[in-house]
Amino acid sequence: MPHIPVLAAEEIIRAGRRMDQRGWVPATAGNISVRIEGPRIAITCSGGHKGFLDSFSVIEVDADARVVTPGARPSAETRLHCQIYRAFPDAGAVLHGHSVANTVLSLEEPGPALSFSGYEVQKIFAGQTTHDATLHLPLFDNDQDMARLAGVVAPHLPGMTMGYLIRGHGVYVWGPNMDMALARLEGLEFLLACALERRRK
Ligand SMILES: [Zn+2]
Repeated sequence: MPHIPVLAAEEIIRAGRRMDQRGWVPATAGNISVRIEGPRIAITCSGGHKGFLDSFSVIEVDADARVVTPGARPSAETRLHCQIYRAFPDAGAVLHGHSVANTVLSLEEPGPALSFSGYEVQKIFAGQTTHDATLHLPLFDNDQDMARLAGVVAPHLPGMTMGYLIRGHGVYVWGPNMDMALARLEGLEFLLACALERRRK
């Protein structure tokens, strides 16, 4: 069995520290993955704090979320990461976090999406060249049955620009590599924090 490349594990550990510093992975929340190559995916195992990851916290799964690393305990949400890699062949890293802003807004918004327009930071998302556009962040109801949740998300994935938000739970964001995925998560959390502040006025 091939080992997880050191670089892939290091990128996941670094992302975990960054997400923890920003308050996006409280308690044992969140999960982080990178595509090693083709159908090989490195991802954080179930549980554990994402600010204190080590190489034993990173496991390998295949494109169908089957565990490759012997004895590893996968997170239930591994299935959602794999779904994103299958839908977006150019996705190189996927991040999932639970912030205050994404949790509060997703619970307060009764509609099927949050919309953003007029923000300069919108340009961090794929294909966006101007603030003068409206971007939509789809909202899905939380579900502990990941197969059922993946089925609800699937038809919305093609053309999804920002990622998506699970109500009362957290966001999924991806990019061609870890740096870009982190930048997009930061951009999205900035937009959500702005939206939360404007609703409080
Ligand atoms: Zn979660």
